[in-house]
Amino acid sequence: MPNPATVPEHIAISRSKGVTIDWKDGHSSRYELQYLRDRCPCAQCTGAHGGPGREAQPASPLQVYKPRLKMESVEPVGNYAFRIAWNDGHSTGIYSYEHLREICPCPACMEASDGGRGE
Ligand SMILES: [Zn+2]
Ligand SMILES: [Zn+2]
Repeated sequence: MPNPATVPEHIAISRSKGVTIDWKDGHSSRYELQYLRDRCPCAQCTGAHGGPGREAQPASPLQVYKPRLKMESVEPVGNYAFRIAWNDGHSTGIYSYEHLREICPCPACMEASDGGRGE
């Protein structure tokens, strides 16, 4: 039996705003684009090579124009995840529902994940 907390009942995707997921257990999560982009779970972004997970960028006097973050496409991966292609060219991040539920940014979940260290 899949855990209803990690099974989406309904997913609403806005490519310029973000993703809202209503879960089977009645919880609802809203993810901003930047929030999702920052938490891209792919090896490149999480630094699977032992690095801190950020690219070293030489300081440049040139301000590179950065277009506003947007999702180019969102495609389902099996029935457990979806893959987001960003307008910055990055498209290797596969966001599993389990991962998404874990990073739910609502105050209740944030508090639960912060307060769980009372050893
Ligand atoms: Zn990534
Ligand atoms: Zn939550």
